Amino acid sequence: MQKILNDIAAAMAQETERGKVADYIPQLAHVDPNQFGISVVLPDGQVFSAGDAKTAFSIQSISKVFTLTMALGKLGDAVWNKVGREPSGDPFNSIVQLEHEMGKPRNPFINAGAIAIVDAIMMGHQPKETLAEILQFVRFIADDNSIIFDHKVAESEMEHKDRNASLAHFMKSFGRIKHPVDNVLGTYFHQCSIAMNCEQLARAGQFLVSDGVNASTNTRVVSPQRARRINSLMMMCGHYDGSGEFAFRVGLPGKSGVGGGILVIAPGKASIAVWSPGLDTIGNSQLGTQALEMLVHKTGWSIFGK
Ligand code: GLU
Repeated sequence: MQKILNDIAAAMAQETERGKVADYIPQLAHVDPNQFGISVVLPDGQVFSAGDAKTAFSIQSISKVFTLTMALGKLGDAVWNKVGREPSGDPFNSIVQLEHEMGKPRNPFINAGAIAIVDAIMMGHQPKETLAEILQFVRFIADDNSIIFDHKVAESEMEHKDRNASLAHFMKSFGRIKHPVDNVLGTYFHQCSIAMNCEQLARAGQFLVSDGVNASTNTRVVSPQRARRINSLMMMCGHYDGSGEFAFRVGLPGKSGVGGGILVIAPGKASIAVWSPGLDTIGNSQLGTQALEMLVHKTGWSIFGK
């Protein structure tokens, strides 16, 4: 495994087409695009890494997997009254579909869906309390108490909140957002600002590899059925309107973020995190996807075969 990852990192270092760093969040525009990291955690807890796997980055939308998991814990199947579970085929920040479906987002991984989910887990609490809960949960699943928010990134997003604020207000007009919009957005931007490195992120994904149990810490996070369902949502909706392309090229459940990270689950085999800040035109990590394509080619881990 170490040789496979070294080879992938070496191949990525040669790439000149690295995509474009997200600049609609000014604080992310400063990130050096010439970085690449990858970590693989096996079910027995062994960790293999190459490249910049210990450099922290903004996990952004990957956090939506963790807040969905929390929401399912708090609300159970009532979550599906708040958001659907169909791929949207639209960009991450699209508003169009909301009008056709009475303000109900198509899935929990597009921005509108994640905003509805964070509103659901607030349950009358102040943003600070919900944020403490989110951070505690992420630290628990990653088994790492050093994970923190990057407040500068959250503030930068708050200053440029117009698109996400539109989504939230539009949903509120249908009675779908219960808390004050700015409280919901502040919470959402902070969850997206969580800074993690590839090793921490791959550890956090472990519970989705082994039927809901983090095998390293021997703790159950969710039921086997719930782990399976979260994986299927990641498969169908984890890369926005690039989800079909990702399934075609990689064939594993994954969730991307505009910080350039991707968390990928090979059920029963490994939790994988890759990071490279340059994005393709849809907003998914360009080299990250390429690296994963190489990884499944070398390991045969795609759920669709070799
Ligand atoms: N915080 C980002 C936004 O709301 C998340 C988008 C992403 O990572 O894809 O625009």
